[in-house]
Formats: sequence, C-alpha cells, structure tokens
Amino acid sequence: MPHQLNADLHSHSSLSDGTLTPEALAARARAQGVELWALTDHDELAGQARAAAAARAEGIAWLGGVEISVTFAGETVHIVGLGIDPANEELGAGLARTREGRLQRARQIADGLAKVGIPGAYDGALAYVTNPDLMSRTHFARWLVDTGVCRDNGEVFRRYLVSGKPGYVAHRWAGLGEAVGWILAAGGAAVIAHPGRYKFTPIEEYALFSEFKAHGGAGIEVLTGSHGSADAAKYAAMAIEFDFAASRGSDFHSPDESRIDLGTLPKLPKQLEPIWQRLEARIQRP
Ligand code: AMP
Ligand code: MN
Ligand code: MN
Ligand code: MN
Repeated sequence: MPHQLNADLHSHSSLSDGTLTPEALAARARAQGVELWALTDHDELAGQARAAAAARAEGIAWLGGVEISVTFAGETVHIVGLGIDPANEELGAGLARTREGRLQRARQIADGLAKVGIPGAYDGALAYVTNPDLMSRTHFARWLVDTGVCRDNGEVFRRYLVSGKPGYVAHRWAGLGEAVGWILAAGGAAVIAHPGRYKFTPIEEYALFSEFKAHGGAGIEVLTGSHGSADAAKYAAMAIEFDFAASRGSDFHSPDESRIDLGTLPKLPKQLEPIWQRLEARIQRP
C-alpha cells in the first residue's frame, strides 16, 4: 500500500459509542474516498465481521481493529490494535474483562449527577446505548445534550464528566502491557491513540512511550481528529525519535458530533513510516 494512501484507521460504530452501523460507516468511508479502513470500537470486537463484509462489498481495503481502554499512571490511555484477528481468544477474553465494570461505573456516574440536581441519568443514558456491554460516557453526553442541560458533548465533558467534576468516576481499565500483549497475540500492531489528548507531564509521557515500546508497541497516531497542527508536528517528531510507525485515523463517532469526517485528515508526512506498511499481510483486499 502506498505512503500517501487515504487510510482511516480509527472509527466507531453502534457496537460501541458511535451512532452508525458498521455497514453505514463502510459506505460513508467509501463515499469519503477512504482506501483502507479500520473499525476500532472501544473494547469490543462484535462489529468486526460485519465491517469486513461491508468493506468488501464497498470495494475498500480493511484491517481488523479495536481501541482498548488502559490505565497508565492513574490516567486513561487508549491503545488501538490494528490488523488483529477478531477471532483471537486471548484478545476476546481480555476485552470481555475490560468491559465488565462499565454498568456499575455508569450507576456511579448517575449517582454523581443526581447529587448536583440531575436525576434519572442512568435510565436517560441507557436509552442511547446500542450495545448493552458498552455503556459509555458518550451516552451520558448525548442524553445531557438532548435534554438541554448542555449545548454539545464537549460542554458535557468539561462540566460533568472529567476528573474533578461531579459525574467523574475513577476506573481501573486494562494494564498497558496486557493490552499490547493481547494485540500481539491476535497478530496485530499496537498504536497509542491520540497522544496529544492525555494530561501527562513530559516525564510521564516519556515513560508511556518507553514502556509501550518495551512491551512491543509499534506506533503512535500522528494524525487524528483530536490533534491540531502543533500536536501533529510534535508527534511526527516523537515518532521519529522513538522509531515508531505513524498512524492516521479520524476517530469518527457520528455525523452530528465528529469534527473530522472519515477520510478527511491530511496525508501522513513523507518522512514517517506508515503503520499499514508493517501490516501488508493482514490487509483484506476487496
Ligand atoms: P468512556 O470509555 O466511557 O470513558 O468514554 C470515553 C469516550 O468519551 C471517548 O471514546 C470519546 O468518544 C468520548 N469523549 C471523551 N472526551 C470527550 C470530549 N472532551 N468531548 C467529547 N467526547 C469525549
Ligand atoms: Mn468514543
Ligand atoms: Mn480514544
Ligand atoms: Mn476512538
């Protein structure tokens, strides 16, 4: 696959916290000119077979994908697995354990919101859930926007759902080494998602990158819907410094919410090694 490929290797469907089905996403990816696509639902593989079939039907190349929630240095970090075999049992079992605490966490989020005068959030958010195993903060955000409490998801997170706010619940996800291990066991490559989003000091970030590499991590997202041009430049330099391959993915969730549509990010800078060049053998071609 060429360097300047329109690859979109990070997106979400209704099997996690996206609003489109895998089929609708594949159709949108093709319409947006995407040439290589991965569905990377949070902690969930249930959409993979549908995504593979839909990509084939749309005539676009496809890689298996997942986005795993990890706890590192007390923060939540997301690790994308690309080229994974969705039938791998070790990965499937690890993700099932990672999903387990979500409903209880959602109860605690709702309790926190009730204390600041927002009752009924659990049932409210549940009405937006499209996969009962994957109740997410995004579903609370949609409910709080549609009921008029906030203008958009960004405001919900800022006011209610991030550390220090009334609906924030600290949660222990998978370990970094575990998540990378499951991805490698499933034949995939591990990538640090949207590195510019974490609230790490430079020392913590260096520790994340170094430990990730020691566990066998292969790359970082340089181009993502979460990065501005300064982030993209910073992480392009860090990819070279750490000898990481680079990934490109919109992190598309919904036509109504996502700032960056499928396939619309700039192309990867020429000096970086695209992650898809390490995954040639894992690509399903139409
Ligand atoms: P959870 O896995 O339940 O903790 O939910 C995390 C999800 O919330 C992420 O995958 C994003 O889709 C969404 N999210 C996180 N931060 C924000 C934000 N500031 N604005 C909008 N959505 C966000
Ligand atoms: Mn999400
Ligand atoms: Mn993420
Ligand atoms: Mn994502």
